[in-house]
Amino acid sequence: MKKIGVLTSGGDAPGMNAAIRSVVRMALSNDIEVLAIRKGYMGLLNGLFQEMDARSVSDILHRGGTILQSSRCAEFREEAGVRKGVEMARKAGLEGIVVIGGDGSFRGARDLSLMGLPTIGIPATIDNDIACTELTIGFDTALETVKDALDKIRDTAQSHERCSVFEVMGRGAGYIAAYVAIACGAEAAIIPEMPFDFEQDIIKPIMDGKKRGKENNLIVVAEGVGGSVELAERIEKATGVETRATILGHIQRGGSPTVNDRMLASRMGIHAVKLLKNGIGNRTVAIKNNEIVDYDILEGLSMKKQMPEEIMKMAKILSL
Ligand code: ADP
Repeated sequence: MKKIGVLTSGGDAPGMNAAIRSVVRMALSNDIEVLAIRKGYMGLLNGLFQEMDARSVSDILHRGGTILQSSRCAEFREEAGVRKGVEMARKAGLEGIVVIGGDGSFRGARDLSLMGLPTIGIPATIDNDIACTELTIGFDTALETVKDALDKIRDTAQSHERCSVFEVMGRGAGYIAAYVAIACGAEAAIIPEMPFDFEQDIIKPIMDGKKRGKENNLIVVAEGVGGSVELAERIEKATGVETRATILGHIQRGGSPTVNDRMLASRMGIHAVKLLKNGIGNRTVAIKNNEIVDYDILEGLSMKKQMPEEIMKMAKILSL
């Protein structure tokens, strides 16, 4: 391949810039030209292209978000949209594309590949909800952000002997909630992967803790379960403990990526370019047992991600 494209699509995640940089520099060092496509699939359809050189990706490694910007593009969900995307890419001389994004973006990448344009997906989302990879780019940074916020909430909850209900992102997955609940010593983690009983899993631990002298309580709720404001009201009613809800929101998507996310993004970018260089498309890059691997995109998307039971048990045991 002589020329490839790179785009970021769907929800942004810290570390996307590190992935862009890696793709650009790996390609250039293999004498492959790179065209950046701005604003995701929408930019592909509208020819928002920009030639990249090694300096185009200077000074971005430490920045959150994505310098190429992202979008959600309804037109690209239609066959005619994908066909137009392939035409636009061909006109620009592109022989392959690297798509950095989540599972929705990967479906678009698969469609491009099936229409004859080899495309590789790099998993980047703070939700860590892509089944074929143990980690997605941005998850580690989001955990750090949420940890900082939760530790601060703990300080104030302790001072007032309050209960805090803390809602974190993750779409349909409870990875952020479960991990920070363990890391920050929350009394309970309410996640979509595990059914919960209001009395048994929330009220009982709070009342038992009170008897043992516990002066504050943190309940972490995953976005996929939601309803944290109503939950806080129910807890206050049932326990008599003043309870406040905090919904952390988009702050979780920003910030400078951690070393782990920069490393993951750099490794995955290199792997993606290696695949395209060998004429291979329709693959998603993943990490398994600390090795960078790749899967057929559809196979990767159809895998089912299971929250390790050990994680769920740990959260319960350590909240005693
Ligand atoms: P994410 O990639 O973060 O999961 P989305 O699910 O919003 O985010 O997907 C991003 C974009 O990928 C969509 O706006 C659309 O352009 C494209 N896309 C999503 N699903 C499909 C699909 N089934 N077929 C083709 N393109 C899709």
